[in-house]
Amino acid sequence: MSRKLKGIAAAPGVAIAPLVHFHGTLDYIPTWKVAPEDVDKEKGRLTEAVAEVTRSLHDLQNQLAGELTAHEVRIWDAQLAILHDPTFRQDVAREIDLHGVNLEVALQRVIARYEEVFERMPDPAMRERAADLRDIGRQLVGALMARDRTRYTANGRDYVFAADEFLPSDAGILDREHIRGIVTAHGGKYSHGAILARSLGIPAVVGVEDVLVRAGSGTTVVVDGNTGTVILDPNADELAQYQLRLREQRGIDQRIAEVRFQPAVTTDGVAVRLHANVEGVRDLDSLETEPIEGIGLFRTEFAFMERRQFPTEEEQVAMYRRAMQGAGGKPVTFRTLDVGGDKPLRYLRMPEERNPVLGWRGIRLCLDWPDILFTQMRAILRAGALGHARILLPMITSRSEVQRCRDVLDQLVRDLRDNAEEHDPQIELGVMVEVPVVVPVLPEILPLCDFVSVGTNDLVQYLLAVDRDNQRVAKMYDPFHPGVLRVLQQIADHCARAGKPAAVCGEIAGDHVFTPVLVGLGFRELSMAPVFVPRVKLTLRSFSLGECRSLAAQALAADSTTAVRKLVQDRVRVRWDRFLASGDAGGTGR
Ligand code: PEP
Ligand code: MG
Repeated sequence: MSRKLKGIAAAPGVAIAPLVHFHGTLDYIPTWKVAPEDVDKEKGRLTEAVAEVTRSLHDLQNQLAGELTAHEVRIWDAQLAILHDPTFRQDVAREIDLHGVNLEVALQRVIARYEEVFERMPDPAMRERAADLRDIGRQLVGALMARDRTRYTANGRDYVFAADEFLPSDAGILDREHIRGIVTAHGGKYSHGAILARSLGIPAVVGVEDVLVRAGSGTTVVVDGNTGTVILDPNADELAQYQLRLREQRGIDQRIAEVRFQPAVTTDGVAVRLHANVEGVRDLDSLETEPIEGIGLFRTEFAFMERRQFPTEEEQVAMYRRAMQGAGGKPVTFRTLDVGGDKPLRYLRMPEERNPVLGWRGIRLCLDWPDILFTQMRAILRAGALGHARILLPMITSRSEVQRCRDVLDQLVRDLRDNAEEHDPQIELGVMVEVPVVVPVLPEILPLCDFVSVGTNDLVQYLLAVDRDNQRVAKMYDPFHPGVLRVLQQIADHCARAGKPAAVCGEIAGDHVFTPVLVGLGFRELSMAPVFVPRVKLTLRSFSLGECRSLAAQALAADSTTAVRKLVQDRVRVRWDRFLASGDAGGTGR
């Protein structure tokens, strides 16, 4: 029977394919009912998983035999003993027999019961066994999920990725040709997983808490990234309806794509520079440079996150040169390392923080460990010799932070010049506006930098005090809040007065519904995932500057988020309908 679940629409489009669970923990595992006739088969899965984990523990012991003492290598014997304990295996089998649950659930329940017992034991050594038990549970569940994953994704089959979260590191393991959609239990529309899904052009629904516990791998699923709907086991009517939508969507996408090589101008010829957001070196291979004017945001931390250790200066130079080449001679804006918050670096020992989003992240971390900033800026300067590079500072809170970065940059330029090393002497320094308090002090900050880029993903989170990763408050995270628009207006005004260019590089820059508002507020540079360039261009080409200004003025004066959203959506929809009906992308004809 089909089951409809509701989540947050995170990346547009529709997908129909079998769901495959990618990673799970003992807290988060797929759950399904096992029919009486399948109980023996389910118990058989335990034998297979035990054999697999035993093999990998023995491999580990052999690998470490040369590095650790014989005593230390025997640490894993305790885990092997649990794995082969007949009582443990009987208890798991009994759980399946009695309750008709799948093996993963049986393991979860039995391990939770054992853990409770161990943790109550007076002997600390016995209490430690609880950790071994948990670890064994994790390995067994991991082995089971890995088996399913291979089974359902082998031989080039299409699939929908399912997990508790879509992590930046997942982008590296996905088979881009066959992944059709993404469904996650956690996250919001502006979390980094959602941003990645959009930039990869994969329909995604996030924050569907029930999805993992209601469907095993292999279940057919419909992912509607336009409405945030997920249908498990769709019936024949639903399948037919979504297959039709899929075909319609492809037709519309084709029409929109035709616009991508046309100039990004309003109907009265005002140019807006459209730039690309790039999440990692991998994105460069598929980057089409003709429709854009450069890379407006290269999130360097993603390339750092995919590695096992800090890249050296030379490795960074190679990475940034690839970006410069990928941009085909157009400017590249390198954001300095923005780790922390929801983007941890596994090789950087970060303290546990109560509020990581308000904690040690972005430029704060780099200024505390200036070696990181120093090496990165030097590498960007050197790679910049291939063309034109810009450096963008994340999470700036005060003028003094910008001053310190400016001093480092000026010193590096002097050193490179004195040593006659190749570099970009014209490099520009930019500041991200994402911490609200920067807005009123922009007049003091602007003389120190060359441009500003507004990171609305964080700015909105901090202005509204709404966590961008938390699906429970996702409804409150709305950039159309009139207060947010007024702050954006202040930023654009400060920059115009100082004669410094102002860009927007948060996700709203790629949301075509926002385009006329941002242009009306005064922004002339928008940086977005490349997939959104055609939509934004199309919208831009159907409004005059006067219409954008008047729409922005009405939005600024509106008294609620709902009113702003409706006003802007209606206005944009009329233009899109006209385009789709006639094929005319606005009146410029350029
Ligand atoms: C932003 O905050 O808007 C931004 C562009 O940076 P990130 O999404 O990587 O935090
Ligand atoms: Mg940010």
